[in-house]
Amino acid sequence: MKFRILNVVLLLVLPLVMAFGANNPTIRWWGLGVFILLQLSILYYGVTTISAQYFVDALCNAKTDEKVVALSFDDGPHNVLTPKILETLRLYNVPASFFVIGRNIEGNEDVLQKTFEEGHIIGNHSFCHDFWFDMYSSKKMLDDMHIADNTIEEAIGKKPVLFRPPYGITNPALKKAIKKGRYLTIGWSVRSLDTTIKDKEKLLSRISRRIKPGDIILLHDSMEHTANLLPELIETIFKKGYKIKGIDEMLNIRAYA
Ligand SMILES: [Zn+2]
Repeated sequence: MKFRILNVVLLLVLPLVMAFGANNPTIRWWGLGVFILLQLSILYYGVTTISAQYFVDALCNAKTDEKVVALSFDDGPHNVLTPKILETLRLYNVPASFFVIGRNIEGNEDVLQKTFEEGHIIGNHSFCHDFWFDMYSSKKMLDDMHIADNTIEEAIGKKPVLFRPPYGITNPALKKAIKKGRYLTIGWSVRSLDTTIKDKEKLLSRISRRIKPGDIILLHDSMEHTANLLPELIETIFKKGYKIKGIDEMLNIRAYA
């Protein structure tokens, strides 16, 4: 919301610049150019940064001083890596959230059931996770999200309420779809970048340097190195004196309808 205020402030400053440059076309053109560039930059930041809360009120962390964080995994279920991650979570007795892609469930229903039965949260991460998802109409988005809901419900018997936008991209059409579908949008406050950073030490130090009370950490159960580094990540978090809680407990929200 604070970025919306910045938009308005810029809008108010523009007439002043125009008045100041009343007799100087250079100032007027530069003023207008800088104004358009700043507005577009803010818009781009709003679309691509879920925690900016520009279009959608996403829950990206818990407001707390308690040393607690939540783990979240996107883009599964994966037939090999998700079970491997579940094994680690079981070993350390740690809960997590899995924002699954609906079309990945086919053939992996047992993996999803196991994830749910072991006490982890299942959330909706769209059915198609299409690269062009953010270009869809609001209706097409909602249809896709509903298909994902149904696929999840068929596997675990529960309809998810939590939704995480594909690529974390939000816009007015998605805002409408989320409102109509009565979803609770879940973002993140620590982006591991585990889809691009493959180096274990770099990933661990990146996450470790960033965590603060109430953080939601974004990981991917579609990445082999993420599954491999998870034991060390959990130990690093514990060594920093943090507890790991489920997203539902940490944010005091309900995960299913
Ligand atoms: Zn994703």
